Amino acid sequence: MPQHNDFDLIVIGGGSGGLAGAFRAAEHGARVALLEPAALGGTCVNVGCVPKKAMWLAAEVAGKLRQASVLGFDAPDCALDWSTFIGHRQRYIEGIHAAYRRRLDAAGIALMPTRGRLLDARRVVTDEGLVLSASHVLLATGGQPVRPDIPGAELGGVSDDFFTWRDAPASVAVVGGGYIAVELAGVLQALGSHVTLRVRGQRVLDGFDDEIAAQLVEDYRHLGVDCRLSTATTAIERVDGGLRLRDGAGEWSEPVDRVLFATGRRPNLVGLGLDAAGIALDARGFVPVDAHFRTAVDGVYAVGDITPAPALTPVAIAAARRLMDRVFGGRERAPLALDDVPTVVFSHPPIGRVGLSEAQARARFGDDVQVLRAGFRPMLHALAGSPQRSLFKIVCTGEARRVVGLHLLGEAADEMLQGFAVAMRRGLTLDDLHDTIAIHPTSAEEVVLMR
Ligand code: FAD
Ligand code: NDP
Repeated sequence: MPQHNDFDLIVIGGGSGGLAGAFRAAEHGARVALLEPAALGGTCVNVGCVPKKAMWLAAEVAGKLRQASVLGFDAPDCALDWSTFIGHRQRYIEGIHAAYRRRLDAAGIALMPTRGRLLDARRVVTDEGLVLSASHVLLATGGQPVRPDIPGAELGGVSDDFFTWRDAPASVAVVGGGYIAVELAGVLQALGSHVTLRVRGQRVLDGFDDEIAAQLVEDYRHLGVDCRLSTATTAIERVDGGLRLRDGAGEWSEPVDRVLFATGRRPNLVGLGLDAAGIALDARGFVPVDAHFRTAVDGVYAVGDITPAPALTPVAIAAARRLMDRVFGGRERAPLALDDVPTVVFSHPPIGRVGLSEAQARARFGDDVQVLRAGFRPMLHALAGSPQRSLFKIVCTGEARRVVGLHLLGEAADEMLQGFAVAMRRGLTLDDLHDTIAIHPTSAEEVVLMR
C-alpha cells in the first residue's frame, strides 16, 4: 500500500465537526488531511439545518401571506412553486460549498474526496488504498436517518428524501414526534399538504417542557395538522389511492400520498475500523468520549453526532474547536458546558429552550422551584383573528431565584433565545429580568414582565 506520512491530523468526515476541527487545527499550524467522500458541510449544510431552515422560511412566508389576505391585503395566491424555491435553496448551498473549498485551499488543508477507515490509532486507509498516518485522528462521521423495522417501511421516505422532493404531496403522514417530525410536519402543512403527525408516545418533543409541547400540539391543530398522539405505526402498505398505515390496535388509516419517517438517527460507524483502533462503543452505539472529546485511545478524538453529546451543529463545532485549541494550540480550555445548550425547534411557531424543563427542575431541586408563565396571543395573530397562542415559561430555583430554564413558544422565539442563553451562563436571576426595562410592544418583553 502507498504510504503518506506528512500530516499532524487526519480528519474523517467533512461535516460540521470535521470542518471546524480541520480549520482550527490548521490555524494552529497543523498539517491537516480532511477525508470527505460526499458534499462538504455534511448533514447540516446538505440535508439538515440549512435546507430545513430554507423550507421553514418559505413556510413562514406562506403563513404571512395567508394572514395578509385576512388583514385586507390583496395578497396573491399562496401556492409555492417548489422548483423555483428549491433553485434558490440549492444555489445558496452551492455558495457554502464554494466558500468551504476556498477556505480549505487558503488554509492549506488537503481535501481528499474519499472515505477513511482506521487501520490503527495512527493510520487511516482510504477507499483507494492510500495509507495516511498522523499523530492525531479526529472522527466526525455524523449520522443518518433510521426507518423503523416494520412491514412496508421501504414505502416511506426519511428526511434525506424530503430534501429531494420537488412538490408538496396532497397528503402526507409524518411518523415520529422529535425535532425532525415536528419541523417537517409544520413545513409541509404550511406549504399546502394535509399532514397527519403520528406520534407513538403521549406527547411530542420528549425532553422539552410538557406545557410547551402541549401548546405546540394545540397550535398545530389550529393550523390543520392532524396530530395523532399515542398512535404507533406498525405497518405500511400500498393500496388504491396511496399508502395506508396500521396502528397498534390493527386499524388502518385513510390512504395518504406519501409517508415520511422521522424516527431518529444512528451514527455512521460501519466500516470505520473502530475495532482495529481499539475503540468500543457505548450501550447506545455512540463513541464514548471524555469531557474534552478524547476517546479511550490516545490521539484519537471524536466529535458531533457519533458521540453522546447533543446532536446539534454548534455543539459539534464548539467541541472540535476547543479540542484543537488544546491539542495544537496548547490552550487549556474548560470542558464544553453541555447542561445549558440553547436549542430551537423550527416549528410554527418556533420553540426556544435553554436549561431545565419544569419537570427536570423539580426532579433536581424538589420543591425549591418557582415557575412563571405568560400565555398570550401575539399581536399579528390577534389582529388577524388567528387562535395561535404563545407560551413562555421561566423556571427558577433557590432564594436568589436563579433562572435554570427558559422556554419560549411563539413568533420570533428562535431569534429571542440567544441573548437570554448568554445571560443564563452568567447566572441570570429573576430579579435581573425584573430590573430590566421592557421593549414595548414586543413578545420578548413578556420575559421581563412575567410575575
Ligand atoms: P455531519 O455533519 O453529518 O458530517 C459527517 C460527514 O462525515 C458527512 O459529510 C459524511 O459524508 C462523512 N463521512 C461519513 N463516513 C465517513 C468516512 N468513513 N470517511 C469519510 N467521511 C465520512 N442541528 C442544529 O444545530 N440546528 C438545526 O436546525 C438542525 N436541523 C437539522 C435538520 C435535520 C433534517 C437533520 C437531519 C439534522 C439537523 N441538525 C440541526 C443536526 C445537525 O445537522 C447535526 O448535529 C450535525 O450536522 C452533526 O455534525 P457532524 O460533524 O457530527 O456530522
Ligand atoms: P429524535 O430522537 O429527536 O426523535 C425521534 C422520534 O421518533 C421520537 O419521537 C421517537 O419516539 C420516534 N420514534 C422512534 N422510533 C419510532 C418508531 N419505530 N415508530 C414511531 N416513532 C418512533 O430524532 P430526530 O430524527 O427527530 O432528530 C435527530 C436529532 O437531530 C435531534 O435529536 C436533534 O438533536 C437534531 N436535530 C436538531 C434540529 C434543530 O436543532 N432544530 C432539527 C432536527 C434535528 P419516542 O420518543 O417514543 O422514542
